[in-house]
Amino acid sequence: MSRFGPIRSGWARTRRATQRDRTVRGGRDAYAVGVAAVDHPLTSKLAGFGTTIFAEMSALAVKTGAINLGQGFPDTDGPAEVLDAAVDAIRSGVNQYPPGPGMPVLREAIVEHQRRFYGLDYDAETEVLVTAGATEALAGALLGMLDVGDEVVLFEPMYDSYQACIALAGGVLRPVVLRPDADTGRYQFDRDEFSATVTDRTKLILLNTPHNPTGKVFTLDELEFIAGLAKRHDVLVVTDEVYEHLVFTGTEHVPMAGLPGMAERTLTISSGGKTFNTTGWKTGWMCGPASMVDAAKTAKQFLTYVNGAPFQPATAVGLRLPDSFFAALAADLETKRDRLYTGLVAAGFTAYRPEATYFTTVDIRPIQPDGDGIAFCLGLPERVGVVAIPNQVFYANPEHGRHLVRFACCKRLDVIDAAVERLAALAP
Ligand code: PMP
Ligand code: GLN
Repeated sequence: MSRFGPIRSGWARTRRATQRDRTVRGGRDAYAVGVAAVDHPLTSKLAGFGTTIFAEMSALAVKTGAINLGQGFPDTDGPAEVLDAAVDAIRSGVNQYPPGPGMPVLREAIVEHQRRFYGLDYDAETEVLVTAGATEALAGALLGMLDVGDEVVLFEPMYDSYQACIALAGGVLRPVVLRPDADTGRYQFDRDEFSATVTDRTKLILLNTPHNPTGKVFTLDELEFIAGLAKRHDVLVVTDEVYEHLVFTGTEHVPMAGLPGMAERTLTISSGGKTFNTTGWKTGWMCGPASMVDAAKTAKQFLTYVNGAPFQPATAVGLRLPDSFFAALAADLETKRDRLYTGLVAAGFTAYRPEATYFTTVDIRPIQPDGDGIAFCLGLPERVGVVAIPNQVFYANPEHGRHLVRFACCKRLDVIDAAVERLAALAP
């Protein structure tokens, strides 16, 4: 069953097809013998997770022909040098399994990148691991480090794979809510609540900065506070920084690993998808102390072992592009953020201006007083021809995000303009 309603999930269809196959192959008796198991194959650890919201809403966009401001992926290609390098790699025979930790050329480029942008030093042999996107890096880290019952402190809303991976690992979620400040609209957390949540039962703090879906960038002061608790309670930190280069004027991304005493306990995760408009390549990585990288690698090697050989040298080319490329990337997205944000405000939403990332979150209640974000998103394609994501799916307690909806701005300006024009019809 889908987590949020009437759209049929992929696995429900698979289940029906499997039942049919068994009936055809084995006849009625074989079907009858196996029916109970076939009806409930899903592990209880994943009960209720259904199909990810991104797959469901992108399918809805295709089905209805709506403009897809749901799943965050760009609609233009990234730098030609990076694309050409992938084509060259395929043509020159880089088509077999890469080494387990990732190709040396990419690991070296990751080390150079961390030094160039943040002054952080890593050993390419022991402290860097290439993964199938940040998603696999997160899965490897959580599955490789958590024991059953270990507590993970993190902020809600959160990227949807966090809850699923913690559940698979048997970990216990300890969420702290991010809420928009009444005056500034900036997402904040309550420091007393956070302090009380980090205890000696905490194995790790899972951080995401810049943050999806709120567009918040954690400040140095906030990170110092979190780091202080991590050190006091001897807790590991895993930090997801996939939007590190999509940060807007007036804000700076500060990597947790750069804070005093934190490189020793912090695993930093990122990927090339957002930076080089190559989300489909799934080239990600992690950097951190050899012990943490090793723990994550132990799980990762049994997930995919390795992936995407030709995309690895191509992503290395991207990481070595001049500073001007990274500045232009953020500036271009900032123009798009402004256009979308202005349009969302004009349409009548209460919008929270993001400091970074692809996403702007709005409170729908000025337009839909019952604040039912799921009903709103399911109806939006029919109503005005736009797809968005209900933020509820990013919360451990869905009530906290019921009235919030996320729109993505990583599209061509003419596409954003068309979406904004359609959304204007909602204005009360
Ligand atoms: N973390 C966050 C916060 C994200 O928004 C995403 C979405 N792409 C990911 C991780 C996954 O990244 P990748 O596509 O590299 O697996
Ligand atoms: N990170 C993207 C988002 O939040 C998409 C990720 C995905 O499709 N799993 O929209």
